[in-house]
Amino acid sequence: MCMTKSYKLKVFANKKKIKELNKLVAFWRDQVNHKIKLFWSFENVKSSYPPQQYCCGGKLVGDASVKSWRIVKGAKATEQKEKPYFEGKEIDLDQICIYIIPEFKTKLFDIWFKVISLTPRKRLVLPCKRTKIFNEAVKKGRLKKSFKLLKINGNYYIECYVEFPEVKKKNNNIVGIDVGLNKAIVTSDGKILGKELKDLRIRTKWRSYKRKLSPVKQWLNHYAKKLTQLYPNSDFAVEKLLFKGKKGSSKKFRRNNNNWPYMWLAKKLSELGHLKGFEVIKVNPYGTSIKCPLCGAADKANRHGELFQCVSCGHTGDADMVGAVNIKLRAERVAREHYVPLTSLGTLGTGTFVSKRDLIFTGENIISAYKSPTASLISSHTLQPTLCPSHCLSPRVRLLH
Ligand SMILES: [Zn+2]
Repeated sequence: MCMTKSYKLKVFANKKKIKELNKLVAFWRDQVNHKIKLFWSFENVKSSYPPQQYCCGGKLVGDASVKSWRIVKGAKATEQKEKPYFEGKEIDLDQICIYIIPEFKTKLFDIWFKVISLTPRKRLVLPCKRTKIFNEAVKKGRLKKSFKLLKINGNYYIECYVEFPEVKKKNNNIVGIDVGLNKAIVTSDGKILGKELKDLRIRTKWRSYKRKLSPVKQWLNHYAKKLTQLYPNSDFAVEKLLFKGKKGSSKKFRRNNNNWPYMWLAKKLSELGHLKGFEVIKVNPYGTSIKCPLCGAADKANRHGELFQCVSCGHTGDADMVGAVNIKLRAERVAREHYVPLTSLGTLGTGTFVSKRDLIFTGENIISAYKSPTASLISSHTLQPTLCPSHCLSPRVRLLH
């Protein structure tokens, strides 16, 4: 398994080259939109590539056809009603259309690209400067041979992709992380990070930062890194955030949803996890803010703003930290789960299962069962086959150690 990260390098082109690039981008945009119009009328866009006869006319035309085919295919798959429009701020370039001039450097520019142009057999030579982050990335990972040419606010960038091998480590500790409204990031052992985030979120709107990362995102990146330094050899647990209305939710809805900083943090942590070898476990967020981590009582009355006080056992604590502890506990439970094929149930015997309370149903099907010492008897044939959520498609039953 690999993970890919992207890095932008600015193109330092003179006026003549910018003009050529503008022409190239406009040509690509028109080609893609022209083909979208054509393919949109097709009944069947199921195949991976467009029919051969629409791909001739040169390398760029062929690639544009494939691009528009994928756009149409994607739009039809999500039952989009209107014909898509390609705004044309980017061109996908494979290794035939672009390559790095090997071993070539000048005083000012230390990486040069040769890019296909609209004139046959003529290539555009584009100088760029390596950035520090890019250099570090290519030292650790493998630079891919395909690139993207991007046009952002009149400037051109080459987006590079670096593949990193995934690191796997076995960690014994799980740190729960909650993002409280007042304290930003709270960990299950009571550390509070990023108190300044709340003010930043109020003062800045992230939409106005198209080119650079918004200050909030920069802070969140910083704290994701900080968490990995504070807790080496640990896995992290976060809430799995589900958007209401999931599929149908518009971009605008997602943008306005105030959970995005949390999503960003979780995403950043996951990326770091692939590189450094820890896991980010996402748990069901239901009730994490009102459940008592000591006695398990879940009651809205447990929560008084920032204070948590259990109505059942009297346990008190900081409400955000209680949330983080619950997230940690839930993740530990998830980590103990394992899946067994349904066919091996016979060998587990019939007496080892669970009370009905511990079975999780989806409609008529039992989707999982917790093995517990106090279980009452349920025979194995009452356990319906289910699909294991992690990749394997054979019927399985989920058990806890
Ligand atoms: Zn309690």
